[in-house]
Amino acid sequence: MALTLSKKAQAVKPSSTLAITAKAKEMKEKGIDVVGFGAGEPDFNTPDNICEAAIKALKDGFTKYTPASGTLELRKAISEKFKYNNLNYEPDQIVVSNGGKHSLTNVFSTILNPGDEVIIPTPYWLSYPEIVKLADGIPVFVRADKSQNYKITAKQLEDACTDKTKALILNSPNNPSGMVYTREELEAIAEVVVRKDIYVVSDEMYETLIYGDEEHISIASLNDEIYKRTITCNGVSKSYAMTGWRIGYTGSTKEIAKVMGSIQSHQTSNPNSIAQKAALEALVGPQDFVKSMKKEYERRRDYMSERIANMKHISAVKPQGAFYVFVDISKTFNKTYKGHRINDVDNLAKILIEDYKVAVISCDDFGFNDHIRLSYAISLENIKKGLDRIEEFLEQLT
Ligand code: PLP
Repeated sequence: MALTLSKKAQAVKPSSTLAITAKAKEMKEKGIDVVGFGAGEPDFNTPDNICEAAIKALKDGFTKYTPASGTLELRKAISEKFKYNNLNYEPDQIVVSNGGKHSLTNVFSTILNPGDEVIIPTPYWLSYPEIVKLADGIPVFVRADKSQNYKITAKQLEDACTDKTKALILNSPNNPSGMVYTREELEAIAEVVVRKDIYVVSDEMYETLIYGDEEHISIASLNDEIYKRTITCNGVSKSYAMTGWRIGYTGSTKEIAKVMGSIQSHQTSNPNSIAQKAALEALVGPQDFVKSMKKEYERRRDYMSERIANMKHISAVKPQGAFYVFVDISKTFNKTYKGHRINDVDNLAKILIEDYKVAVISCDDFGFNDHIRLSYAISLENIKKGLDRIEEFLEQLT
């Protein structure tokens, strides 16, 4: 038998967002003044009260195994938190995992059989297709154009369903588009989901980061039928600036939670005991931090949206949530830079990092090969500097 690797594992694409962030970091370490718009995590520190809870856990010797699906006290706190989303999940319907990504991995391992199709609205967060494929599923992409604010319609969902469709992934607020689905849109989607009898994996990771008048609606809260078919995924990473702590969680039927818990018990056991205490404090402690972080993001979003609206050759729909601006750069493709035609988004990203020292995320891996993603989880000062550089580049184009 030759020393070959798993075909499934080899088919996984490396994460391009992590790659560009690493490149910008490397340049910074060499003393190059790079502005990195790649950040996928808050630029705030985890609040002190949360850190203190972790220190206390350590000092108290809370350093042993916990139940594989998370401590009862944390699952009870999550159950209370879900009530704010009008969702009733008992603690035994909740599984705490090692970050949101891990929750999603468990979900797809639990619901998919080989060859099952999963509908992924495009643009999508780049990990979805890879996670689905690793669980032997087949991603089916449904494009949501700019003209529809990058949100799929119920009709598109219905048209994409086949007898192999097992689930829909819904991500609102959305990474990378920043769009938020309204109650009416969700109702129409839920009606199709129930009729087609499929699951919805509702990724609500950016739930607390919504600006202006928009509100977050959990699709599972709409009625009992959709509740049964939904796995609500969330976590503390983005809302509490806790990306490194690795705590994500799900609410689902007891049956799904039980299977997810069994899988997790063999693969990782419990999520880190200290991080669980920190997540508990995040959920039950003061929430002012969430509000002030959100206020700051809103300020940056407004600034960026206005600047981009006044730039040549690019445009963006004003984001309603998360911390990304999804920028349409398609009009730069027939332009010339230093005698060369810009022919694709990776080419543009390369020019920006090499000649203008600005790191942006090419959205090819998010299903849109004529868009870039700019994160505003960086200081306003850096946002200004970076946008000045992008503008200077756009002015050069002929
Ligand atoms: N879901 C979305 C839409 C995300 O953007 C991310 C992280 O970037 C996650 C889930 C995963 O979060 P975590 O860091 O908790 O794994």
